[in-house]
Amino acid sequence: MLALVKAEAGPGLRLETVPEPQIGINDVLIRVRRTGICGTDLHIESWDPWAQKTIVPPLIIGHEFVGEIVDVGSNVADFRAGDIVSGEGHVVCGRCRHCLAGRRHLCANTIGLGVGRDGCFAELVSLPMTNVWHHAPGVPEEVAAIFDPFGNAVHTALAFPVLGEDVLVTGAGPIGLMAIAVARHAGARFVVASELNPYRRALALRMGAHVAIDPRETNLHDVQAQLGMTEGFDVALEMSGNADALRGATDNMAHGGSIAMLGIPTADISLDLTKLVFKMLTLRGIYGREMYETWYKMTVMLQSGLDITPAITHRFSFREHEAAFATARSGDSGKVIMDWTDA
Ligand code: NAD
Ligand code: ZN
Repeated sequence: MLALVKAEAGPGLRLETVPEPQIGINDVLIRVRRTGICGTDLHIESWDPWAQKTIVPPLIIGHEFVGEIVDVGSNVADFRAGDIVSGEGHVVCGRCRHCLAGRRHLCANTIGLGVGRDGCFAELVSLPMTNVWHHAPGVPEEVAAIFDPFGNAVHTALAFPVLGEDVLVTGAGPIGLMAIAVARHAGARFVVASELNPYRRALALRMGAHVAIDPRETNLHDVQAQLGMTEGFDVALEMSGNADALRGATDNMAHGGSIAMLGIPTADISLDLTKLVFKMLTLRGIYGREMYETWYKMTVMLQSGLDITPAITHRFSFREHEAAFATARSGDSGKVIMDWTDA
């Protein structure tokens, strides 16, 4: 089969013919239809310091996909050939304290699809049945392809109650964009996006943000005044990993406010913690998705009218992977999809 492979330690990816994955008795074999490109894939492609210490080539990369089941192991009763499914990209151990308690997102032994095991940028991918999600009828295929990052957005946006609250989203990359729509859908009063890139600020408004600012030009205190806010933001969703963004959020929170932090800092961040103390803020890290409460919430929010499709801006054949990666890297894009149906 064809697969997009990190063949050796160093920059770049190669489209190669590789053996088809074998499945065990508890596994599901899926023919990949569409995939999303994530920042993780860009890190692996460019072979940055994180990739150098994390990835062992050769590796098929990619973890965001939708596909059709072609085969199941002998223990698998709930899935059958022809089902349209996505995969949860975190393969957990199933045996630790948290796994046994049903808190699988807290498993410390998590292995990432396309990071610690062969991923989905391929004609076929194999996953344990416990990582496979049946799509409800009517979920558009491109949306199904990005349930993994959509789940990051939902997990973060619903980490704290947003009904009637004022929400700040720092970073309007693909995940921040989806989080804006989720916060609106979940009943936030005002959703303010802070983002450096003008293309993404425009998308933020399309996703439902009331205001989208460039933090280098507009002060969030002024935005609060414009909107008639008096207390500060109740909830912030940190979606950039940037130190200034986190500090800006901390400065603009209401007393008792909560910050859900998905963005992964690429360097140490210094923060004036006296603000956390005196404002009695909560800062919570968010990793992955809750298995499978987040997936359930994604599905039912789509069924009750949530629309995340404006966050999907570009489509390529997998054969044009270089152009697809360049588009994702440019920043002048939302989610970039690769189509594998002509493999
Ligand atoms: P992205 O890199 O495409 O988007 C980040 C955005 O933040 C960019 O558009 C950038 O312009 C903006 N930004 C940078 N500095 C800023 C600042 N000072 N103020 C406002 N905006 C600023 O990333 P993404 O794919 O949307 O993912 C969002 C974040 O979540 C990334 O940091 C990513 O590494 C992280 N992530 C975390 C998890 C997890 O499980 N915790 C999973 C996936 C991604
Ligand atoms: Zn575990």
